[in-house]
Amino acid sequence: MGKKVFNGKCYFEPEVETQAALASVGIYTFRYYPQDKIIMSSDYAVVYFGGEKFITDLKNNVYVNMALEKGKIQSLFEKIENGSQKASTKFFTKEKGRAYKITVSVLEKDDLGKPVMAAGVIESIDKDIRQKEMIYALGSNFNSIYYIDVDNDKVYVYTVNSAVESMIGEKLRSIPGYEDLMADYVKKTVIADDRETMLYETSLDNLRRQFQNKNAYQYDYRIFRDGKIKHCRAKFVNVSKKGCLHAMIAGFSDVSSEKERELERMAYVDRVTGGPNYESFKKKLRDMPSSGYMISMDVHSFKIINSICGVTKGDETLKETWKCIEKVLYDGDIAGHINADRFVIFSNTFDESKVCSKLNILKDDLRVLSENLKIPSVIPYFGITKWNPGKKVEEAYSEANFAKNRIKDRKDVDSQFYSEADTKKMLEEKAMEDAFLDDLQKGRFEVWYQPKYSPEDEKLIGAEGLIRWRLKDGSLMSPAKFIPLFERDGLIRILDEYVFRDVCNKQMEWKRKGLGVIPVSINLSRASLYFESVVKQYHSIASEIGVDTELVPIEITESAAIDNENIKALADRFHSNGFPLMVDDFGAGYSSLATLNMKCFDTLKIDKSLIDYIGDFSGEKLLEHTIALAKDLGLNVTAEGVETEEQVDFLRKINCDSIQGYYYSKPLPEQEFKKLL
Ligand code: C2E
Ligand code: CA
Ligand code: CA
Repeated sequence: MGKKVFNGKCYFEPEVETQAALASVGIYTFRYYPQDKIIMSSDYAVVYFGGEKFITDLKNNVYVNMALEKGKIQSLFEKIENGSQKASTKFFTKEKGRAYKITVSVLEKDDLGKPVMAAGVIESIDKDIRQKEMIYALGSNFNSIYYIDVDNDKVYVYTVNSAVESMIGEKLRSIPGYEDLMADYVKKTVIADDRETMLYETSLDNLRRQFQNKNAYQYDYRIFRDGKIKHCRAKFVNVSKKGCLHAMIAGFSDVSSEKERELERMAYVDRVTGGPNYESFKKKLRDMPSSGYMISMDVHSFKIINSICGVTKGDETLKETWKCIEKVLYDGDIAGHINADRFVIFSNTFDESKVCSKLNILKDDLRVLSENLKIPSVIPYFGITKWNPGKKVEEAYSEANFAKNRIKDRKDVDSQFYSEADTKKMLEEKAMEDAFLDDLQKGRFEVWYQPKYSPEDEKLIGAEGLIRWRLKDGSLMSPAKFIPLFERDGLIRILDEYVFRDVCNKQMEWKRKGLGVIPVSINLSRASLYFESVVKQYHSIASEIGVDTELVPIEITESAAIDNENIKALADRFHSNGFPLMVDDFGAGYSSLATLNMKCFDTLKIDKSLIDYIGDFSGEKLLEHTIALAKDLGLNVTAEGVETEEQVDFLRKINCDSIQGYYYSKPLPEQEFKKLL
């Protein structure tokens, strides 16, 4: 044992031979005297690491200063002082970027058990070990790994992807500062769209912010390589004390296949229900070897749930609805969520009764669900069609939908099988859609006019523009036949605007010819109302033609007004653009007094179904009071579908403002109508 004197005291160190043997395998030793707060380095350690033989400043000595993470070594000494038998830590050196492990173990204690002398060993750790540690820190296999000494702005390469090496090989050898290297990498590999954010995300400024409360941060970006876009991930692990950034490990990796799997998975997962979406359903059904029934499902007035209970509750309802559907799926059955309140189910059986009983169970479950969620009843209705392997999924789905739409407005049936007659009807509808634009351009859509009269003096006080379709054989098709179709497929928007424009043009023409000027209302379907731009659009058409908007009142059916959450704002916009508004078909279907009190409308058009009450005592009372109430609320009242003198007399008696009906006139072609002006 070597003996050395320092400050008049004797200190021991291992024999020179032992020191030499250890140093030859990269291990250096020192002694530590906690009570005297002295470190005595071995001669080999002094030569290798520098510094003094005796060290008295435990906070600031060659070993502590060598480490990037100084605190680690300081706390090592503290641990021994505080009674630990042994303590060790790994650290990186600033100079060479190498990793070492330092271990201190107590060899001698005094009578009180306090440490007197400890042996210290410093060994460089093999590169592989460091790499493993880094990979471990990064959490998965990264192609390129760097150790970044932030304080000294140095980058140390541990492993590097060959592609990166070939790209920035020169730079790698000279090891530039971190942000320079990053800028170079980003410029040469990252796709243009991601460059700016990548630079920001990986900047030291941002990383410092990110490391405030966590020690790892990752950012995904895209690169362009071998003619393809690849998804990459950069991950940074802070190896400094929490909250500061002195050194970090950075890993870069190609995560394309992982990303692709994720994107693929996302493409088949429904956002709302978390179950399969239509794409997923289609894919599965295409691979289905057996025949069965495809069911298209919809929920009656789902919008009401959304508008009364809020969209969050609506989404929850859909999620729970999906669970109910899942519960009735048996062997070989599949299902998916299409959108909104629409679902699709494939039932792996050709037994109609089994399908029906499945749907009955589902219906019952949904009723229970509505009770549990305390929402208006979720009442489903179904369209059903046969499906055989090889049949187009989309075709089957549109058949099922077609059947379903036939019972859309019915409360007495909740399921409908697709039939041969449906095929015929579907083909007809397809032909109508195909002919629409061409016929519109060729002027085959004609606006007819039905006059409105004042019952008091029997004078013409207005009219309604109604569309007709002139077929190639010269006959006319009634709007009842094509309007519902065009409302479903959205073509109605084009048609409504066409009618509006035509009426505006006619108003101008009649005025120029010196004919009488009366308001001519037009119909705006609910589908047209979904577009906020509709008011602006109609206003600009009217002003382009030069017609006062007062002369083209707009009719909106009562049910469309109720369904539209923005009806008030929309009505305000129509009004501020000068358009009078009429509630159409009041009293047909679900009517509500709330409509009267909406304060959105100027005129109430009472539907034929209420007019037909005339002659019936209580019916007449109802009409009388409805009209009185409407007038009290400042509304004008028009009666529609008035066919008899008795009806006219009654309406006159109860102060109805205007009458439209066959009694006075059927809708007339323009040539005839203008004779009345
Ligand atoms: P609506 O808006 O309620 O139009 C009144 C309908 O009642 C018209 O049928 C009219 O001919 C009919 N009618 C009028 N008086 C009588 C009567 O005394 N007795 C009977 N039985 N019927 C009478 P039309 O022209 O067949 O139109 C049917 C529906 O098609 C319209 O109902 C309206 O909802 C829709 N429609 C017509 N033209 C357009 C349009 O340009 N755009 C939109 N969105 N819908 C339109
Ligand atoms: Ca109307
Ligand atoms: Ca009407």
